[in-house]
Amino acid sequence: MNMPHADVAIIGGGVIGCSIAYHLAQLDVDGVVFEKTSVAGGATGICPGGIRQQFENEAECRLAQRSMRFFEEANRLLEPENPFFLERSGYLFLAESQTLLSQLRRNVAMQNSIGVPSQIVDSADIGRLVPALVCDGIVGGSFCAEDGFLEDCDGFTRTLLRSARRNNFELKLQEVLGLAREGSAWRVSTTADSCLSSRVVIACGVDTVSLLRTLGIEVPIEVQRRRLAFTAPLPDPLMHPLVVALERSFAGKQLLNGVFYVGWLGETAHSDDLTFIETALTAGSTLLPVMAEVPVRRVIAGYYDSTPDHRPILGAIPGYDGLYLAAGFSGHGFMLAPAVGEMLANHVAGAEPDPLLSQFSLRRFQHPTFAEGMQI
Ligand SMILES: Cc1cc2nc3c(=O)[nH]c(=O)nc-3n(C[C@H](O)[C@H](O)[C@H](O)COP(=O)(O)OP(=O)(O)OC[C@H]3O[C@@H](n4cnc5c(N)ncnc54)[C@H](O)[C@@H]3O)c2cc1C
Repeated sequence: MNMPHADVAIIGGGVIGCSIAYHLAQLDVDGVVFEKTSVAGGATGICPGGIRQQFENEAECRLAQRSMRFFEEANRLLEPENPFFLERSGYLFLAESQTLLSQLRRNVAMQNSIGVPSQIVDSADIGRLVPALVCDGIVGGSFCAEDGFLEDCDGFTRTLLRSARRNNFELKLQEVLGLAREGSAWRVSTTADSCLSSRVVIACGVDTVSLLRTLGIEVPIEVQRRRLAFTAPLPDPLMHPLVVALERSFAGKQLLNGVFYVGWLGETAHSDDLTFIETALTAGSTLLPVMAEVPVRRVIAGYYDSTPDHRPILGAIPGYDGLYLAAGFSGHGFMLAPAVGEMLANHVAGAEPDPLLSQFSLRRFQHPTFAEGMQI
């Protein structure tokens, strides 16, 4: 019996795999998405939906900028059953030291030079943006009002896939166990059967390392646990933007339903949930005293697929014809997914790689020159 054939096999049904499938389908390329658990069942299902364009690295800023244009048009492009709400609540980075403030100044100058409308803010501006915030010790910050939130990552991902499936993409709920070269194609072996495909895209999030290892390929992706605490809702709107205080290892935001979600940027591998809650909320309460009292209703845990420079690895895997990689998103995968999907799809469909895509090649780790400083 002949083995089934797929034009393109995408391994991973998170936001990245589904975005690539969506954009390939727009180019009339057929294919299959393999997903071992459920669509958006990995990191995508944990993601609260933060979308920002403030990065330290220009290439990543450009990816985020392109993605923002897609998020703005998502309702028109994807026609979801329930329209998405892109909340323009902004991202506010706070600095306690002149060193960090200088870094933010350099970032904002670069961001403005490519059209990202971020700005440096002083404590009076911060007071206007978040009147309840205690500014003791804060020397300034950066803010981008265009940044924000799309709280429905699961729905966004499923809508991308639904559109791809309308255009001849198939979803197979099967785990890919291994890949092997067979003539000019790749044999994709799953828990159910095997298929042949000349082009395979690996978008497996934290599982990328183990799958590539079956081919003898090592990628510098480290798995890091990250948790989020969600409080009981508070009736008053107190903290509209996502506030990041790097020097206090705190990030948090009040969601549309009044709930605060809080992360601890100094998360350690072995800390228990109570330590996590206590540390995150104590840090948060230095900025917003009410956080010392508000009850935590739940804690969710997920994993970052982090690279040494906190930027994703994208594009063809050198030396492996027809094998492509989209992983290592280091906590930024949702906000980058539209542009990553578009650029990867164009390349997989046969176009020369976009010059921006080339900046995220696996090759950069052979000669590392840059490390992202703001590790969030
Ligand atoms: C706590 C937390 C907060 C975050 N906050 C944000 C945020 O505010 N904004 C933002 O942009 N990003 C955020 N992120 C990061 C974001 O969630 C991820 O970068 C993004 O979802 C990655 O998508 P992905 O498709 O690469 O991976 P995933 O969503 O993990 O998808 C990979 C899929 O591959 C499947 N898979 C794995 N191996 C196989 C196999 N062998 N065969 C078949 N299927 C397989 C998995 O089941 C999974 O569904 C956050 C992450 C966490 C954990």
